[in-house]
Amino acid sequence: EEKVKRIDSATDKARAREKDSDRLKVEENVFDVPTLKILYTLSNKGIIKAMGGAISTGKEANVFYAEGDEKELAIKIYRMASSTFKAMDAYIMKDPRFTNIRNNRRDIIFAWTRKELQNLKRSKSAGVRVPEPIVAEKNVLIMEFMGEEKKPYPLLKNTPLEDDEAKLVYNKIVEYMHLLYKEANLVHADLSEYNILIDPADKTPVFIDMGQSVTLEHPNAREFLYRDVLNVLRFFGRYGITDKPEELLSKIQAE
Ligand code: ATP
Ligand code: MN
Repeated sequence: EEKVKRIDSATDKARAREKDSDRLKVEENVFDVPTLKILYTLSNKGIIKAMGGAISTGKEANVFYAEGDEKELAIKIYRMASSTFKAMDAYIMKDPRFTNIRNNRRDIIFAWTRKELQNLKRSKSAGVRVPEPIVAEKNVLIMEFMGEEKKPYPLLKNTPLEDDEAKLVYNKIVEYMHLLYKEANLVHADLSEYNILIDPADKTPVFIDMGQSVTLEHPNAREFLYRDVLNVLRFFGRYGITDKPEELLSKIQAE
């Protein structure tokens, strides 16, 4: 228990450091001229009615709130100057859907954005609760905003849960991992309490951040799945969930 807390707090600190050093770079990087042009075009098409504030400043992307035609939107903008595009390489190049991407930064980031849109589509069709994807244009991904009063739903990480609620959330996450695997042919590949939102109304999980998700044909799919399994079990261990990794794996892979 104590050990888990230590690991968690070390993870938090590392993330906070990443973010602080990053924040300084954001202003100059996000709305570069090509990105502004895309936003103008999307607004001329009536897809974006009004831009709102920043929701999140991540390592590779920034997320903004916006008003759409009918719905509220989340606009995820991958930074073209992203320092981690090399890591994107390994996910994209071995994905059978993206074999003919040229090996340059721009094309990899654009493919990554399209991949996230496709992954969200497949997940939604499979019955997993994810933001509804709307459009991907170059490095800009537009999706349904998951939140209320312009604030995103809290991360699983920041959601206080009773043990019995946690059990229900866990079961739903297992169901979603199973649907992803069996119906969408996908592994999330960055699943953790940082990429799951919780709808406060009914405590249902919402999976987000699927740029790195891969199809089962990807040579590292099993390894990524195992990592997701360990992350989920590490988080839910504190709520008395005692599944072994192999048990969770077999639930995910069950017919
Ligand atoms: P990080 O590096 O922080 O993980 P990221 O670049 O991986 O960021 P995401 O995890 O997709 O990007 O999104 C970052 C944050 O933006 C999320 O934690 C969430 O708070 C918010 N967010 C993302 N998508 C949505 C959405 N569709 N609706 C509401 N909020 C969202
Ligand atoms: Mn994320």
